[in-house]
Amino acid sequence: MPRKLYIAGNWKMNTSLAECAALTEGLVERLGDVADVDLAIAPPFVYLQAVGRQVQGSRIALGAQNMFYEDNGAYTGETSAAMLKDVGCCFVILGHSERRHVIGETDELINRKVLKALADGLTVILAVGELLEQRQAGQTMDVVRRQVQVGLEGVGVAEMAGVTLAYEPVWAIGTGETASPAQAQDVHAMIRTLVGDLYDAETAAATRIQYGGSVKPSNAAELLALDDVDGALVGGASLKAEDFAGIVQAGRDVP
Ligand code: PEP
Repeated sequence: MPRKLYIAGNWKMNTSLAECAALTEGLVERLGDVADVDLAIAPPFVYLQAVGRQVQGSRIALGAQNMFYEDNGAYTGETSAAMLKDVGCCFVILGHSERRHVIGETDELINRKVLKALADGLTVILAVGELLEQRQAGQTMDVVRRQVQVGLEGVGVAEMAGVTLAYEPVWAIGTGETASPAQAQDVHAMIRTLVGDLYDAETAAATRIQYGGSVKPSNAAELLALDDVDGALVGGASLKAEDFAGIVQAGRDVP
């Protein structure tokens, strides 16, 4: 089953309001009409509404970098799925390695968020990936398998239509290091087999698995051409409209 490429930009805690407006303008100009690749951006929370207005009418989807699993109440500093939808978000990134390893989120917490996001009608990019020491210790497959398994616990087969997985080796995020095509393909293939075991062959064939970790225009083509790589989750290179557009073009050019 052919899977449509899905390329998302994670702006992390970057940009001022003015920079964010200029970046969005550049993206809409270059990519606003692209229909053969699904495109998405996740700006900082405080700029979501402003960016939402700018991308309105374009094909670029708006999403958030995190959310909380409750509807409302005494959860200082947190943001609900309903609030995200209210400002025009249609997706949320969950389980990003910086949330796992800097903030300390566990697989169980991430799973609660995944379930809530899907229940409230947001699609999810669930990010998984091993640390350098885990790769060196030969634990990559076990670590990623557990993150996928626990992250998806309780997610029904029909709900999987709203889930994209993102394999992001932590040692390749923001470091300039990229997984080799063989390293990426191995893990992506394992994830697809796992989705088949957890659900069924049809779901495995339909689920998109993005690669993330220092993706840039110069390396995007070889990564996006891999059998089980269905797009990219892009950090640093998503902060320049030209670079993000270059990655998208590389994807569109894959035969
Ligand atoms: C990310 O934050 O998801 C990421 C992959 O970052 P970078 O592209 O900067 O490595």
